[in-house]
Amino acid sequence: MIDIRSMTLKELEQYMESIGEKKFRAKQVYEWFHKRLALSFDEMNNIPKALKEKLKEQCTMMELKEIEHFVSKIDGTRKYLFELEDGNIIESVLMKYKHGNSVCISSQAGCRMGCKFCASTLGGLDRSLTPAEMVGQIYAIQKDTGERVSNVVVMGTGEPLDNYENLLRFITLLSDENGLNISQRNLTVSTCGIVPKIQSLADEKLQITLAISLHAPNDAMRKELMPIAYQYSMDELLDACKYYFEQTKRRMTFEYSLVAGVNDTSSNAKELCKRLKGFPCHVNLIPVNPIKERDFKQSVPESIRDFKNILEKNRVNVTIRREMGRDINAACGQLRRQKLQEKEN
Ligand code: SAH
Repeated sequence: MIDIRSMTLKELEQYMESIGEKKFRAKQVYEWFHKRLALSFDEMNNIPKALKEKLKEQCTMMELKEIEHFVSKIDGTRKYLFELEDGNIIESVLMKYKHGNSVCISSQAGCRMGCKFCASTLGGLDRSLTPAEMVGQIYAIQKDTGERVSNVVVMGTGEPLDNYENLLRFITLLSDENGLNISQRNLTVSTCGIVPKIQSLADEKLQITLAISLHAPNDAMRKELMPIAYQYSMDELLDACKYYFEQTKRRMTFEYSLVAGVNDTSSNAKELCKRLKGFPCHVNLIPVNPIKERDFKQSVPESIRDFKNILEKNRVNVTIRREMGRDINAACGQLRRQKLQEKEN
């Protein structure tokens, strides 16, 4: 079956021509999928019946079925669990801010990066998501709430740069004027730091924000938290970041999850400042979200504040991530994991 919702407009035009159809049909079908968020050929009322039948025979839409969602009573954050056509389960989150609605999507079902504090990687990688399954999370949420999604962060389950080609196509679909037309500037992609892929992404010269999961001020400590640090040193990673900035002129974000007694001391903060001094970036401090399978604890508010003050004194831009949906917040990837375990029993 052809994954038709994953095709860019250009690819869809080629496909239409290959099955003997006029090129303009591609734009019509594309708009049904990506602007009107259609999920059946039957509702495409400007498409001839014979073509609809042909498409039904040849194509799949890689549709997401909502299994359930949870709504926070505190701030309206919504967590969704979706089932994919092959039975896999993924999770996505909608966060409501004053400046608009932001959706956090998964890029893979599971993850093979093995970061120690992360629940999404505990069961390994099942498979990467297709572009249709990535935009599908945003479309399903926009349809469910009836409200426009203005920002997207690829920070859910999975390593987006481990699904590179599909990520690029996803960005094309999302920012296309014939689709939802979400500006690349409103899209953030977060990576654990796959250096060669950061370099390739830089060469694409996109306008997205790149967020790097750093979590440590040096290689030794980073290795304890993130296996990827064995493959690429912090020097190599920061060089790739510099290259990304030179190519795109986009200021990057560094994410730093604070774990009590592991990476949250004032000397850790000072070392981080030395590494980042003068680099056009922004540091996002995330009090670690404890998962039951591991013994990591959140830093106490005082160390979080101290850490932030040291960065500010050294003129490193810094914010503390506000925790959203505390009452429904099974830590990153935990909801999916819980559901998969229920399924097995
Ligand atoms: N694989 C990508 C994107 C997914 S994770 C990446 O590594 O960036 C999104 C962010 O959440 C990353 O910074 C990740 O390190 C962080 N994260 C994962 N589990 C967490 C937890 N339990 N508490 C706090 N941050 C966590």
